[in-house]
Amino acid sequence: MTSFRVGMTTDTGRVRTKNEDSNLVADNLFAVADGMGGHQGGEVASALAIQTLQAHAPGPSIESLREGIQLANRVIFDKAGSAEELHGMGTTLCAVRLVDTSGGQVVAWANVGDSRIYLFRDGELTQLSEDHSLVQNLVRDGQLTKDAAAVHPQRNIVTRVLGIELDVDVDIDTVIPYRGDRYLLCSDGLFDEIDENQIAGVLRRLADPKEASAELVRLANEHGGRDNITALVVDVIDDGGRAESASAALDGDPTKPVPITPSPSAHDDGAVDRGAFAGRRSSLPDVDEEKLPKTGERSGEFFDDLDRARAKHWTWRVGAFVLVLLLVLGAAAGAVGWYARRTYFVGFRDGEVAILKGRPGGLLWFGPTVEQRMGIKRGEVPQAPREEIAKGKDEGSLDAARRYVANLQDQIKRARPKPTPTTRPTTTTTKPMPKTTTTRPRPKRSVTTVAPATTKP
Ligand code: MG
Repeated sequence: MTSFRVGMTTDTGRVRTKNEDSNLVADNLFAVADGMGGHQGGEVASALAIQTLQAHAPGPSIESLREGIQLANRVIFDKAGSAEELHGMGTTLCAVRLVDTSGGQVVAWANVGDSRIYLFRDGELTQLSEDHSLVQNLVRDGQLTKDAAAVHPQRNIVTRVLGIELDVDVDIDTVIPYRGDRYLLCSDGLFDEIDENQIAGVLRRLADPKEASAELVRLANEHGGRDNITALVVDVIDDGGRAESASAALDGDPTKPVPITPSPSAHDDGAVDRGAFAGRRSSLPDVDEEKLPKTGERSGEFFDDLDRARAKHWTWRVGAFVLVLLLVLGAAAGAVGWYARRTYFVGFRDGEVAILKGRPGGLLWFGPTVEQRMGIKRGEVPQAPREEIAKGKDEGSLDAARRYVANLQDQIKRARPKPTPTTRPTTTTTKPMPKTTTTRPRPKRSVTTVAPATTKP
């Protein structure tokens, strides 16, 4: 039978005005949560995580632990969407639980975020959990040393926490407990101030877990206390005689943690900058504890609310998606419409020449529209331009289309046959000669007696 002795110390630190860390010390279940978020979000998130875990990880199994943490994630996510001042809140959560397996009792540990679980065994300190943080990713990729990560200015950027996404991956693994093992669960306010050598020194020196946790917090405060500090020391004081038998089976080297199930693959969703959250209220978080389910409960008002919240969340997401889709389609249709109708051409409509707006033949569902009818019959148009106009003579602008039609009218006019002369009286420009009106009276004819002519001799 495995049993534990526990010491827990938590402190606001020397800079913060209130403590947003939460912790859980229950029957064989221990956890630390480090909340983050504006206003009262941080303390609400960490408190919800602890309360939900306690209520929903009642069974001594790995799956129960996982479900409890995933449910805590959804509870916080739901709560964050219920009030503007809680929007964006989240929390880390690391937990240790004694679970039953076919191979006997083992310690299951689980982690989301950058709070840590250490195992102190035979004088050596080993970090069991992996930080879900930006600098840890850089360390894993070989771009940063562990020592450099410990003082990196962006070491507070976490890449996975509870409450930010509807679903979350939980790192879970197991360790065979041996008498004398010490598990340390702590928030970053501890290991940001003191290094692992100092932590190991305290755990070596102080056998009482209460004294050890208090000393760890005291040291963190002494080194600055710039964040909330929580140290939870869980000592294995009885392992049912396993240590003795395992020692023989492992050639006397039971110093390493023995994983029973593999860790889920690391999967980091978007990064969250703890430093981005500011502003805190001093009032206690408004957590509706009455509505939280009782231990072991799997139905009731709480789950109904959760289902409704999830349905509402998806309805909202689907609605937002449809709205965005409509906006994109509307913008695309507008762009096509603008392109389709930005130009003019000359064509035939109802047997007449017309200036039309749009593209000949139209584009998608944007057909051309008549801008101006020109009163020229198709039959009047000479052959060459007639074929051109029948296809749609693209002219770009309205003025260009009008110039084309004016030119066409000239062609038509020139093509008309010249009129033949007619017999109708023409007006003459030459003045008629004035008639003489003064007529001299002709002399009257008369008989004149003429004397005979005399001749001279
Ligand atoms: Mg912290």
